[in-house]
Amino acid sequence: MRPAARMVAEQLRGHGITDERVLEVMAELPREDFLPASLAPAAYEGRALPIGQGQTISQPLVVAAMTQALAPGPADSILEIGSGSGYQAAILGRLCRRVVTIELEPALAERAAAVLKRLGLENVEVVAGDGRLGAPQHAPFDGILVAAATPEIPAPLAAQLKEGGRLVLPLGDSEAPAQELRLYRKRGGELEGAAIFPVKFVPLR
Ligand code: SAH
Repeated sequence: MRPAARMVAEQLRGHGITDERVLEVMAELPREDFLPASLAPAAYEGRALPIGQGQTISQPLVVAAMTQALAPGPADSILEIGSGSGYQAAILGRLCRRVVTIELEPALAERAAAVLKRLGLENVEVVAGDGRLGAPQHAPFDGILVAAATPEIPAPLAAQLKEGGRLVLPLGDSEAPAQELRLYRKRGGELEGAAIFPVKFVPLR
């Protein structure tokens, strides 16, 4: 079995991930391509890994759970905040019509854009900048995924979500031992949220 397929079988299936589209994409995507070469041997381990600039790529189970919670459909337009390695954006790119992903660290944005291009993910656009402002020129979005911890939902992101759209984010202080991964849905212009499980993310800055 290929390492990515084994990762799905051992870490995701039977661990709360039931969305077959998510499992299929994660069994095929080469996670090592998103990591510094020295970390390739650890690419499929069940833990977060450093990607430079003090940032991390999340554990596969957390990536899968966030993707599943977002419930991305083939026709959807998705916004991701915190491109990091580009791995999460690549998964969303395979599942959706279009992905805009914003990264604050220019070096990471550049690297993520290069690997996404190499893998042929032409429907994913990497933008270097402050994701707290969202991407008003591409709004509204069917789903928004924030990959960094924040004590509150940035108002522009709530505004750029379609009615009925989903927002997934780790809510809480980045200094705290854990944050709460939450799924919100926009109904009647208001966000209604529920907790998924505790997580630990780098801060949204
Ligand atoms: N989704 C990524 C992991 C993200 S780690 C992956 O699959 O690899 C969180 C990322 O959020 C870091 O790269 C960090 O630089 C970025 N970040 C932090 N604050 C940000 C902001 N205001 N706007 C955009 N990106 C931000």
